[in-house]
Amino acid sequence: MNDRLVDAISAEGDGSEGSLRPLVLNDFIGQEQVRANLRVFISAAGARAEAMDHVLFAGPPGLGKTTLAQIVARELGVNFKATSGPVIAKAGDLAAILTNLEDRDVLFIDEIHRLNPAVEEILYPAMEDFQLDLIIGEGPSARSVRIDLAKFTLVGATTRSGLLTTPLRDRFGIPVRLDFYNEKELVEIVQRGARVLNIGLSQDGALEIARRSRGTPRVAGRLLRRVRDFASVAGAEMIDANLADTALGKLEVDSRGLDALDHRYLSCIAVNFGGGPVGIETIAASLSEPRDAIEEIIEPYLIQQGFVNRTTRGRVLMPLAFQHLGLGTPESISQNQTSLFGDNGQG
Ligand code: ADP
Repeated sequence: MNDRLVDAISAEGDGSEGSLRPLVLNDFIGQEQVRANLRVFISAAGARAEAMDHVLFAGPPGLGKTTLAQIVARELGVNFKATSGPVIAKAGDLAAILTNLEDRDVLFIDEIHRLNPAVEEILYPAMEDFQLDLIIGEGPSARSVRIDLAKFTLVGATTRSGLLTTPLRDRFGIPVRLDFYNEKELVEIVQRGARVLNIGLSQDGALEIARRSRGTPRVAGRLLRRVRDFASVAGAEMIDANLADTALGKLEVDSRGLDALDHRYLSCIAVNFGGGPVGIETIAASLSEPRDAIEEIIEPYLIQQGFVNRTTRGRVLMPLAFQHLGLGTPESISQNQTSLFGDNGQG
C-alpha cells in the first residue's frame, strides 16, 4: 500500500518533498480559519513573551500538520523539535526530550494517538504544570523525584483524534481540525509547487492535477512531480491539461483522483457485499489490507466525496460510487448475482 502514488503518507525516497514546504504562514495556502486563528495565538504569545498554549492538529495524512507545526515554531521564533508517538518507547525517552527543551520551544509529536500509555502518563503533568515526575530505582529503594521543565508548547498531530484519550485531548488548549482542500486551493498549491520546482505549467494543466489530488497537498505535489517526468520524456516544455490527463491515466489515477486500491475497495463493497452495509473487519479481510490503513488512508476521502457512508451497521456504498465504477444500481447487481449463482433448488 505504501507505493501508492496517491498515498498521502509520506514515502521515504520522496526526498524533494521538503522543498515544497511553505515556511511562513503567509505562504501556507487554504485553511483560512485555521491560519487566522493561529496568527492570533502566535502574536498574543509573542506579545506576552510566553509559551503558546498546546496545539492539537487533527486530520487525514498529507494536509499540512507537520508543515503548520514548523511554521508555528518559526513564527514564534523558537526551536522546533520533532518526534513521533511510536518512537517514544519508554517514559525515560520522553523525559530526555522534555528536559532538553528550552523556554517557549515547540515540541512536535506526530501520531500522538500512538503514544504508549506509560509515556502518556508523564506527559500530563508536563503539559499542565511543566513538571516531570520520575521514579528512580526499583523496589523499596525507589523514590520519586520532581523536575521543573521549561515552559514549552506541545504541538500534537493525529490522523485519528477519536483514538486520543480524553485526559490527553483535554490538555490541548488549541484543538485544530484540518479538512481536505478545495479545488481552487489545490490549483494554487500545484502552481506554487511548479514555481518552486521550476516547471512550466498551464492553468488547465494545474486544474487537471488539482482535481485528481484527493483534496491533499502532499498528493498534489507528488502528482506534479510524476507528470513532470512524463513531460520531460515527451520533450514538452509546458504541462497542459492534455499532457496531465495522459500521464495520470498511465499512472492509473482516475478523473476523481482514485487509484487502483480505491477501486478495489469500492468494487469489493459493490460486488461482494451488494453495496453494504458491511463491517470494516470484513472489508479488511477481503482486501488483505490492515483495518487501520483502510480507515485512515482510503476511507476519509471517499467518505468526504460521497462515495461511501460509515453507518453503525457498516460501510454503505452511495449511488455516486456505483456510477463512478460504471456499475448498475445495487438492486441490479444483486439480481445479477442471484442469476449468476443459479436458482439453486428453488424452482
Ligand atoms: P501531514 O503532517 O499532515 O501529513 P505535511 O505537513 O507533511 O502533512 O504536508 C505534506 C506536504 O504537503 C508537504 O510537502 C507540504 O509542503 C505540502 N503542503 C501541505 N499543506 C500545504 C499548504 N497548505 N500549502 C502548500 N503546501 C502544503
